[in-house]
Amino acid sequence: MEKIRKSEDEWKAQLNPEEFRVLREAGTERPFTGEYTDTKTVGVYRCRACGTELFRSDAKFDSHCGWPSFFEPSESDAVTLVEDRSMGMTRVEVRCATCDSHLGHVFEGEGYPTPTDQRYCINSISLTLEPAE
Ligand SMILES: [Zn+2]
Repeated sequence: MEKIRKSEDEWKAQLNPEEFRVLREAGTERPFTGEYTDTKTVGVYRCRACGTELFRSDAKFDSHCGWPSFFEPSESDAVTLVEDRSMGMTRVEVRCATCDSHLGHVFEGEGYPTPTDQRYCINSISLTLEPAE
């Protein structure tokens, strides 16, 4: 897979300040504010920074956690998982495998009735929904 590497200035020129804060500085949008939290539209979710397909609407489920939640990525190698020990917790950060932008975190074993029992908790602002035709 072709990796995308850009300097901080190049990302700043491409992304708006809030996109830059989340995608490139591992920020988190406030819960229940993202544009895709409750979206049911059928389609594909792409990385807002590089356009790579990351998730599909058929893996999106109602987690009621305040962020878009998916039980699996489109392809297992579309994302990379990184241990995150910030904020006094051990969590697993989810990044775009192509451009290394921050997407959110993945949690498992929470008891959601999904095929994987995983919750990819992803910032709306990290994604762009491409509705199916
Ligand atoms: Zn990306």
